[in-house]
Amino acid sequence: MKIVYSPKYLKHGFESHPECPGRASAIYNFLKEKSLEFVSPTPVIENDLLLVHEEELLSKLKLFSKMQMSTSDNPFKENTFEIAKLAAGGALKAAQLAEKEFAFALVRPPGHHAGKNFFGGFCYLNNLAFAVRKIQKEKGIGNILIADFDMHHGNGTQDIFREDASVYFFSMHQDPIDTYPLTGTDSENTEHIRNAILKGGEGDRLFVKTFKENFEEMFDRAEPEMIAVSAGFDAFHADAQYVGSRIGIEKTSTFGEIGKIIASKKLPCFAVLEGGYHQPTLGENAFKFIKEFK
Ligand SMILES: [Zn+2]
Repeated sequence: MKIVYSPKYLKHGFESHPECPGRASAIYNFLKEKSLEFVSPTPVIENDLLLVHEEELLSKLKLFSKMQMSTSDNPFKENTFEIAKLAAGGALKAAQLAEKEFAFALVRPPGHHAGKNFFGGFCYLNNLAFAVRKIQKEKGIGNILIADFDMHHGNGTQDIFREDASVYFFSMHQDPIDTYPLTGTDSENTEHIRNAILKGGEGDRLFVKTFKENFEEMFDRAEPEMIAVSAGFDAFHADAQYVGSRIGIEKTSTFGEIGKIIASKKLPCFAVLEGGYHQPTLGENAFKFIKEFK
């Protein structure tokens, strides 16, 4: 197993923001005690980002970075576009390593709320979507199954792969009726898109059960050659204070149960960090998940 990480990921954003540098250092500090092997990301070729994003979005991100024009969810510093590109490069590196062994992209800023031509929810570029498209092209990989267990709907990922039948997307998230980004309902489901909604109060057991049922069904449909995971840990009870999660996961081992279900498929697999904001528990939650792939 490899962990893709760069200390440059700490240079984007502000500590006063929920999506802050401290999140990445909390995970890094926890994982480095576990004698895991770390590798550095390779920066992306900017033109490659057009595989998933429109040129207009890239120009906007560049301009906002240069002008340091922040929005309510997305702070922009001068280096924001550069670090976002390095996060996309980190996800790609994990996808490239996945052929041989599981890899976890410990990157920030996160990506699953960035669509073809929009950004938001702390995300700028869709790291995982970029890695999926690029690896398909680079290695001639057929179907890929994406599993997103962040408590928010992966609206950007869904937007990017909506018309792409070679990518199956399963997102399990808290009820979009009142949870950002207010998308991810049953009515958006297609043959290759599955949204599973948690109303709140499910707790550990039902979180795992709902994930397993939907994941298995989508896995059978997709017959994938590779699995890509949007790993967000914000369904954890302690994250409620930052993002209003009410699913009620009490045990860090629950993320291990999720890891076990995915790892049991014995397919090339990589995971990319999305949300998770409670720093004292974030490292352990991430570790419990990734250790199942050893
Ligand atoms: Zn989230």
